[in-house]
Amino acid sequence: MPLYDTNQIKIYNTLSGEKEVFKPITAGHIGMYVCGPTVYSNVHLGNVRTFMSFDMIFRYFKHLGYKVRYVRNITDAGHLENDGDVGEDKITKKARLEAIEPMEIVQRYTVDFHNVLNTFNFLPPSIEPTATGHIIEQIELIEAIINNGFAYVVNGSVYFDVHKYNESNEYGILSKRKLEDLIHNTRALDGQSDKKNPQDFALWKKAEPSHIMRWPSPWSDGFPGWHLECTAMSTKYLGEQFDIHGGGMDLKFPHHECEIAQNQAAKGQDPVKYWMHTNMLEMNGARMSKSTGNYINPAELLSGKNDKMSKGYNPMVIRFFMMQASYKSVLDLTDDGLLAAEKGFNRLMEAIGLIGNLKSSSTSTYNVSEWKQRCYDAMNDDFNTPILIATLFDAAKFINQVKDGSATVTKDDLELLKQTIEAFTFDILGLVNVSKEDSGRDKLTSAVEILINLRKEARLNKDFALSDKIRDQLAEAGIQLNDSREGTTFTTN
Ligand code: AMP
Ligand code: ZN
Repeated sequence: MPLYDTNQIKIYNTLSGEKEVFKPITAGHIGMYVCGPTVYSNVHLGNVRTFMSFDMIFRYFKHLGYKVRYVRNITDAGHLENDGDVGEDKITKKARLEAIEPMEIVQRYTVDFHNVLNTFNFLPPSIEPTATGHIIEQIELIEAIINNGFAYVVNGSVYFDVHKYNESNEYGILSKRKLEDLIHNTRALDGQSDKKNPQDFALWKKAEPSHIMRWPSPWSDGFPGWHLECTAMSTKYLGEQFDIHGGGMDLKFPHHECEIAQNQAAKGQDPVKYWMHTNMLEMNGARMSKSTGNYINPAELLSGKNDKMSKGYNPMVIRFFMMQASYKSVLDLTDDGLLAAEKGFNRLMEAIGLIGNLKSSSTSTYNVSEWKQRCYDAMNDDFNTPILIATLFDAAKFINQVKDGSATVTKDDLELLKQTIEAFTFDILGLVNVSKEDSGRDKLTSAVEILINLRKEARLNKDFALSDKIRDQLAEAGIQLNDSREGTTFTTN
């Protein structure tokens, strides 16, 4: 019997605003679509958090025995500056500034994205479609929307008629916004736009002569709107009805709201059964974001080459840190939080490392089956990873007690404990066992600091041959010393 038969999951559905019992459309199968990155720059830790939440969810579904088709797209065209309908394409802009091809930008940052995800031990999705690979599907969708009377053509561009749509549908159903309020809150664009109403959004934009990324269409040489690509790709690979559509909270409006409107207008239904939204990673109390400059890239956090944290952190410590919060809560990235996560991660790994050497007895002083059920209960309750981790620490405490001789465990219970703690820690939370030395770098830091001090002494004694030798040989070993007025720090590669 597959595990999913005995594990009923509850998922918070943004559409209903409630935790609902999860029932897949087809028994034993799950279709999940998650909005992927716009590949115009390096991903930051905030992006990583959202994709990590869905990686954990994907892993849990797989653990329960579901056959999951997980589609996560790459946005390589159509996403304009400010997420709106005017301005330059984010990718084209970067290409122009660097005087290279837009597809070189796409390639560079897609590779970066994949490298980052590998570093954090992500499972690859089942399909990773690109927007530019699905222009025909997007044109077909626009034709259907126009034929059904919900879009209009002006000067080679096509716009979705939000007001017309709202007469027979509810625009704002997902984000709980009302069209009247939106009308009230949007400024008219003083003739800048061809739109009938400022709330309308572009399905197709005619390309200006300078716009390089363009495709022929019945309306003009141009490019599709950002919201349209996800509608086209999700339904192409997951069907007219599918289980889960996810993304960060910031995508609820307008991106996902527009996706619902486009599907309703083209096909008369929202294909998505459960809408899931992950909460934001913050730093210094504000949302991590490229546009405001309040962000940190994974490479900076790993190497310690940044002015925000006291040192570099192992990717598994960062993963553990993120998993300690519910995907629905805001999480603030701080040095203290990471230091605490490092301790917690090491404690868990040490406990798991002890299991192999524990002696079994004829009785258990701990109810391992009940503990195992608590692990499942935590995950079944809308993927409650903080409760899961607390439950794993209960077992870690017990493991230490068995080691000290203050608790006992039977052979069967020990085996069950081992299998369960490993499944939840490695398969589901996606952590990898790295040694304390690797995760903490404490010993390395102490050793390098000794050398930094010796070098300082050598320089004070004007023994520059020795000071240079220390610096150069450390560099050969992959450790760079960086001198500044405040002193010398080091980074590793
Ligand atoms: P983008 O490349 O900007 O379209 O973003 C890719 C994904 O990262 C989207 O699902 C966003 O919701 C998500 N995202 C962006 N900023 C953050 C953040 N600070 N915390 C969590 N997720 C974020
Ligand atoms: Zn999307």
